[in-house]
Parts: sequence; structure tokens; C-alpha cells
Amino acid sequence: MEKNGQRCGRLVLLPCPFQGHINPMLQLGTILHSKGFSITIVHTPFNSPHPSNHPNFKFSLIPDGLSAEDIASGDLVSLIQKLNVNCKSHLQEYLSQIMIGRQGSHDGIVCIIHDELMYFTEAVANFLKLPTIILRTTSAATLLARTTLGQLKVEGLVSFQDFVSQDLVPNLHPLRFKDLPFPLNRNLESFSQVVNDIYKMRTSSSAVIWNTMDCLERSSLAFIQQQCQVPNLPIGPMHKLGPVSPSSSLLEEDTNCMAWLGKQTKNSVIYVSLGSIASMNEKELAEMAWGLANSQKPFLWVVRPDSSTNGKRNKVLSQFYRETVGERGCIVNWAPQKEVLAHSAVGGFLSHCGWNSTLESICEGIPMICKPCFGDQRVNARYVSHVWKVGLELENELVRCEIEKAITILMADKEGEAMRERAKNLKEKIELCIKEGGSCNNSLNRVHYLAAGGN
Ligand code: UDP
Repeated sequence: MEKNGQRCGRLVLLPCPFQGHINPMLQLGTILHSKGFSITIVHTPFNSPHPSNHPNFKFSLIPDGLSAEDIASGDLVSLIQKLNVNCKSHLQEYLSQIMIGRQGSHDGIVCIIHDELMYFTEAVANFLKLPTIILRTTSAATLLARTTLGQLKVEGLVSFQDFVSQDLVPNLHPLRFKDLPFPLNRNLESFSQVVNDIYKMRTSSSAVIWNTMDCLERSSLAFIQQQCQVPNLPIGPMHKLGPVSPSSSLLEEDTNCMAWLGKQTKNSVIYVSLGSIASMNEKELAEMAWGLANSQKPFLWVVRPDSSTNGKRNKVLSQFYRETVGERGCIVNWAPQKEVLAHSAVGGFLSHCGWNSTLESICEGIPMICKPCFGDQRVNARYVSHVWKVGLELENELVRCEIEKAITILMADKEGEAMRERAKNLKEKIELCIKEGGSCNNSLNRVHYLAAGGN
């Protein structure tokens, strides 16, 4: 792995600056570092990761040109477009400088691995004659759903009315139109442009890495591979491969909840989190609060202290509410989620179904209540409830009695028991894929070979 004490080349990693993209990219960095590569993380000031958590990596900052208004807009598609325009020259300048400084050195750059959303990297790498590998941080089913939605938009066959349609989408079983990954801002115009930029099947990269696995998505992956010229390598679930990756949380993790979990009985706790972006309005927050309270089950609930949530958070989670739920409820700003889900006290996950959260839950055999909000979360929720059948979806308006009912089904009912059993079986299948000789491990060996310059 290392020759004469030297590492086997430097990989430059470019995560997209959102929590759900930073985590898998830094996990991949940890895995590849353990295989002998030196790692540089090129990142933006916006959502900058914390270098001190990763002493083995070098971190390099490039300007992102985002204004406070851009960031406050919450328009994810527009942010991604701006990052792709603004960062290009800075990345080129940065890489050119280090390549001149390092010429001939064994520690030179052997490959750039970039998030699929940071697609400007391709042009920079082509110019500098550096190989690239793409990291896709979503499920394979999401790629198919996004390209279909983009195509339907181009053909004029979908509009925002379809956001609620129960009809099945042709060739995307079991997705309904309402499960398609509509963007948060509902702007299908810019969405289809970005989809077009991201999902060029004729990529100039040497491979595509996926944070998913054959045993979960065999047919979607096979279909994608048929249309793509380069190897598609499903090495996920990345957080379960290689050494344990240090936390890459942008918010501080409240570890006190682990002591609270330690006092609860096995499988008794429902863990609730909507990830790093989705949020609730005041009414939804109140319904969730009282749904959890009325369920009579212990709960650990992540309510992020975003500026948009703060006022309503304090109002809903009042002294009266806290006294009502007492020790039965633990509410935190941000949790060490992977450890939480691995804790024996946790018996269910009420989740927005971001892909990382979905993977983290099924890897621990935890059944889910799905409350998707936008984008790929809808696709993942449908797969959880109708393909792997390890959860149920809250489909309608968020109301306390529905939340209470779903928790009872999942935690104390025969239907929930069957989901738990299937989740346990899926966990065992995943463990086989991760093992030496398993499909994820084989794909990872191929990534190692390609990243080091093989072809
Ligand atoms: N996460 C965490 N603590 C929390 C909530 C979330 O560490 O309190 C992590 C979670 O483990 C996951 C990531 O944040 O790795 C969220 O990514 P996901 O794809 O699930 O959702 P997104 O935030 O992108 O919507």
C-alpha cells in the first residue's frame, strides 16, 4: 500500500457543500486514506467542513462567490448552478499551482474525485489532463427518477400539478408521479437544466462511485450501467467500510442524548430527524410535538436551531410541553446520528428519508416511518415502504393522530414487527456485501485500482 514509507499518490476530493454530500465524501476519503492514498479536500467557505476532525487530510479552501442572499434564498438548484460557475477558475488556479510545485514527486495528484453536483470539475481536469472519478451520493433509483422527470419536463408531459398525482410513472415501478424528485423551489425549468448537466452518461471520468449496493438496487444499477460507458461501482454503505470516519457534522453533536438512550429499554425509542435541510412550519412542528407526546413512547427528536425555526421552536417546545413529556422525550439540536441508530434502545426512525439517513437506518436494521419533504426523499421513501418494505409512509398532511398511529404500528403492532424482521434480514444481506469478497468490497478494490491510475 505504501512504497518506502511513501503514500501511493494524492487524491483531490471535491464534496458538494451540503451535509448529506460532505458526509459520504469524507467517509470515502477515510476509506481511501486507509488504502494508502494522501487526501486533499477542496472545499468552499459555504458549509466549510471542520479540518481539525480530520488530521490525516489536507484541506484547501477555494472561494465560492456566494452572497449572503444566495445562501439565505434556500434555492438549492440555483446555489448548485452558481457554485459550478463561480468555483471553476479558482479550482483550476489552485490545481495548476500545486501541480507545478509537485512535478515528479511521488505525492503528486493521481486523480480528482468530485461530487456529481460539482460538475465544473470535469472541464478543469480535462484542461489539466488529470483523471476524474464521479461520486454519486444518492440512490440509483433517484438518478432514474431525476432523468425521467427532466425528460418529462422537456417533452411537456409533467407540470407541477403532478406533484400530487397518484398515477404510476411508466417504467419506474413502483414510483407514482407524486414520488418524483420535484425540487424544493418547484422550479422545473432550472431543475431540468441541472439534470442535463449532471447526468451525462458519456462522462469523461474513469468511473462512477455510488453510495449504494447491489443487494439494494441491482436492477436500477444494471440499467444505468447499460447506458454508461464507464464502470459504475456501488461501494456503499460507505460509513460501514474501512475505519470509522471521524464526525463531519457541520453542527455540534449533542452527545448527552447517548446517556439518555442508555436509560431506555431495548427497541423502545423512536428517533426523529428530518436531516440537515428539510424543515417544518409552526403548525407541523406542533403536530409532530403532540404526536410524539401522545404516542406514549420514548422519543429522541432532532430539532435544528435554524434561524427560520428558532422562534416557532421555542413557542412549540414550551415549558408546558417539556413538563408534559418529561424524561420520556429528549430533544437536541443535532445528534450523533450513526451512533444513535446503532444504539440498542432505538427501535424506529421517523425520517425525511435523505439517502444517508435511509442507508444508516437500514444498515442497523431499524424500520422507518417516512416523512419525505422534497427531491430524492420521495423516491427513497417509496423504496423503503414498497420495495424493501421496511417502513411505512406518512402521506398526508402532518397531523398528530396520524403520527401517533404510525408510531403505534411501527413500534407495537404485528405489521411493524414484520417490517422489523425484514429490516433485520436486509441488514444481514448488507453485511454480506461489505465483507471481504462481497460485492461492495470488490467494487472498492476496483476504485482503488482506477484511482491509482489503472484502467
Ligand atoms: N445527521 C446527523 N445528526 C443529526 C441529523 C442528521 O449526524 O442530528 C447526519 C445523518 O447521519 C446523515 C446526514 O446528517 O449522514 C444527513 O444526510 P441525509 O442524506 O440523510 O439528508 P439531508 O440532510 O441531505 O437532507
